[in-house]
Amino acid sequence: MSIFYLEGISKTYKSGNSVTKALSDITLSFPNSGLISIVGKSGSGKSTLLNILLGIEKPSKGSVYFNNEKINRFSKAKFSVYHLYYTSMVFQHYNLFDDLSPFDNVALPLKIRGEKKDIIKKKVNELFSKFHLNYLINQKTSTLSGGERQRIAILRSLVTSPKVILCDEPTGALDSINSSEIMNLFKEISKSILVIMVSHNLEIVNKYSDRIITLKDGRIISDTSPIYKTRTFVNKIKKNYSNKWTNFFLRKNLKENKHKNVFSILSLIFGFLAIMISVGFYNGSKSSESNMLFSNLACETMSVSEKNLYKVNNSSLSYIKSTRPSEEIMDEFHNIFPNTIIDFNYGYLFSSFPETSFNKRIIDSPEMIPIYSFNNNSILNELVTLGEIPLNDNLNEVVVNEEFISLLGIDKSDALSEEIYISFSKEVSVLTDDLDNPIIKDTYSYSLNLVIKAVIHEFSFLNSPKIYYSHLALKEDLSNYIMENLSTYKNKVITFNDYMYECSSDSEISNYSYNVFSSDKEEIRKLSNYKSELDKNENGLSITSNAFEISNSYTSFMDSFSSALIVFVSIAFVGVNFILGMLALSSFISRKKESAILTCLGAKDISIISIFLKENYILIFVAFLIASALSCPLSILMNLVLEKSFGLTSLIKIPYLSFLNIPYIFLPLLLLVFIFVSTLFLLIPILIYKNKSTVNELRDE
Ligand code: ADP
Repeated sequence: MSIFYLEGISKTYKSGNSVTKALSDITLSFPNSGLISIVGKSGSGKSTLLNILLGIEKPSKGSVYFNNEKINRFSKAKFSVYHLYYTSMVFQHYNLFDDLSPFDNVALPLKIRGEKKDIIKKKVNELFSKFHLNYLINQKTSTLSGGERQRIAILRSLVTSPKVILCDEPTGALDSINSSEIMNLFKEISKSILVIMVSHNLEIVNKYSDRIITLKDGRIISDTSPIYKTRTFVNKIKKNYSNKWTNFFLRKNLKENKHKNVFSILSLIFGFLAIMISVGFYNGSKSSESNMLFSNLACETMSVSEKNLYKVNNSSLSYIKSTRPSEEIMDEFHNIFPNTIIDFNYGYLFSSFPETSFNKRIIDSPEMIPIYSFNNNSILNELVTLGEIPLNDNLNEVVVNEEFISLLGIDKSDALSEEIYISFSKEVSVLTDDLDNPIIKDTYSYSLNLVIKAVIHEFSFLNSPKIYYSHLALKEDLSNYIMENLSTYKNKVITFNDYMYECSSDSEISNYSYNVFSSDKEEIRKLSNYKSELDKNENGLSITSNAFEISNSYTSFMDSFSSALIVFVSIAFVGVNFILGMLALSSFISRKKESAILTCLGAKDISIISIFLKENYILIFVAFLIASALSCPLSILMNLVLEKSFGLTSLIKIPYLSFLNIPYIFLPLLLLVFIFVSTLFLLIPILIYKNKSTVNELRDE
């Protein structure tokens, strides 16, 4: 009866243009027991035949039947069972694991099977006793002699009670005494099971073999007792499998890869932190974008003008002219935005910079921004960091921002006792139809000692020194200011404010616009959105506000920064996973021999790869914990630096508590994504590599 039946086996290797025929049309049967030797010159195809029987190489043509099953159709899982329960391999160079004791080397296949500890112990001890090798049990594997190692390797091949033992030059590295002893051992074993041995030691082969098959150039040139039966008797066995044994190799790898692992952890920490901080930045910048509008008191003051596009005759050029909108339009505007106050824009008076001095020293002119009234102003209230908001609207009592205090070069705490002298005079020219008096000129002069009543903290991105004065106070002043020359000419009392009513919509004095004031946040946000809509049209109303401009610049700055950040984060993410995958692959490659031996012992590919995957997961987890702990202080530090350098407050807010509206999801999600991607980066190259490596590794011998 035969356990193996080979039918028309051929094996061809192609590399580049050269084709090597390692085996040609081999038909053979092997019985269930006996010692059968395969001999032939080097290159005759012996190892190829053995590898095909072991299943680590597939024939190019023909079929191999084991126990009546076609093994070249076996799945990977079935091959594991085949190696773990039916066949064992003994190598010329033993292929023991030096880090495992002789006992553990022999026990390894049973551990892979997932056998219980006490059963393993019993079986292994029995085996050592049966072959009188007890004295080797607790020695260090690395100190054993070649003969002793081969004995341990033979015990390892027997421990699974296989039906076939395949031996590749088992005495090739041994002296003659040891060779004889090993061959006696095989002879003994071959009484109950089949031993197939590749050897070119003809003396040994002739002395011990029951049958000798000679190969030449891949063909059988002689077979001392050929048999051709295909019936078999191997009983089905209940198959177990365990993964626990991988922990030993995992611990070993972790220990041996110390430097690599430290490097991996560092790059992972970098990757995790880059992502945490970047997402924190994105999160923080979005919330600062929505809050920053109200962190600038100028958001309360807008000007509304009407723009008209004019084409230049006979040219492709055009220009936009702004005018003060009509009262009807502004009434309509007020209907849309009822929580606003619409009034004249006196900006013309400030259009040339007023002379400003502090302690008799001329300073850069700040922006003069009107606030409708200091009374009952909630946004102003929120921003005040020093002093008190003036109770009444007086022209000489102002509120300033911190940027203005820096301009003065004094301490914020001293600001309240300081006075700023500000003066300017503006010529107001009125054109008439009268040829004798075509231009009437009046001059409005303003010179005051301004008292700082309060200092406000504004979002300092692109912000400039600002003095906020009361619009109502200025209006009062301008209602009392009589334009003397114009009054004389018109023969009636005309104040500046009266003239604001009279002047035409395209007069400079109208400042081509109305002021719109609001301290209602909801209304301001609506106006800001409305502004964006209006900006799309070439004709019609247009809204401007210092705060809106800053807010829009900030938003577009943040948007472009965020896009750049996405690229950076993607590179960091892919890069770190790539490094990790490559390091794991290099660790796998440096242990490919180990993997090949384990495969021959019946370990599944996935279990072998799981050793490297688990190693990666441990690194990821350790790096994740360190990065999570570091992320909080790092974001605080970066926020401090950003605030100091750019005035951007709380810009990095890592969403620990809520992300995509799901509580506490951010960190676990980040960990899962890393695990998933790193698994891919590791699995793909290893799987590609693994398929090619087993045979080559064992052939290296
Ligand atoms: P033996 O074990 O008898 O020395 P092998 O089975 O190793 O012979 O090789 C048989 C033939 O196949 C040889 O000519 C060898 O060069 C060739 N061969 C073996 N493995 C490969 C391979 N992976 N690629 C190309 N040729 C190979």
